Amino acid sequence: MRLLTPLALILLLLLTYAPAQVRKESPRPSKKVSKVSKAAGAAPEAPSEAPPAGARAVVCIDPGHPSEVASGQNIQNGTSETYANWAVAAKLREALEARGYEVVMTKSSEGELVRNKDRALIANRARAALMLRLHCDASAERGFAVYYPDRRGRAKDGTAGPGPDVIEESRRAARAVHAGLSEGLKGALTDNGVRTDYQTKVGREQGGALTGSIFSEVPVVTIEMVTLSDPGDAEFIKTEEGQRRMAESIADGVALYVAPTRAAARKK
Ligand SMILES: [Zn+2]
Repeated sequence: MRLLTPLALILLLLLTYAPAQVRKESPRPSKKVSKVSKAAGAAPEAPSEAPPAGARAVVCIDPGHPSEVASGQNIQNGTSETYANWAVAAKLREALEARGYEVVMTKSSEGELVRNKDRALIANRARAALMLRLHCDASAERGFAVYYPDRRGRAKDGTAGPGPDVIEESRRAARAVHAGLSEGLKGALTDNGVRTDYQTKVGREQGGALTGSIFSEVPVVTIEMVTLSDPGDAEFIKTEEGQRRMAESIADGVALYVAPTRAAARKK
């Protein structure tokens, strides 16, 4: 291998890395998706055709990070956000499947990098009844909060969203998920209530919605499960018991919003 000069090695690395990136982008051709990403200014709409009666409701679990924004892998109080998000996601998947939901994940391993836009497109493609974005906060506060988009925002590529139906349903979902957390985490973590994307830094910079919300055609909530910069919160989410309690509380909230199986006649 004497021909492999350092330059050639770099080229080889670039060549092997490039197809991996392409592969990530390619399996996402969906009519709805292209409509959303091309029509700048047009709000994505909620799926109009309801799945048949008896179909299982799909819940998309999105364990936050690594994304194009942050790796989430810096250590705070002995753990990392990416680890905590992934650990709870795995338990939440079990809890939801045990209750009869179909679960779609946006990541297949803890360290997988998925862009926030692509996370939304995965939920859209799955026609999820709800997308749950799991995160941990870092701030001077402590405790949990549930965020939803209460207005359209605009992404860097000009795409505006989400649409009015998604906003309305996300509000309902946020209240339900918060109710589950509020009840299930009583006495363990501080309850910071329901908040809006606009109350986040990135959301505010984008006119009021997080990227994962802008591209979402399905109801979407972001759960800041704990404040990892708080030592007590970090201790809670580091334990198996804390992770399980978090997952069960979220699942309780999901059950308040959507049944695991679609009824024959849909009541409004
Ligand atoms: Zn995060």
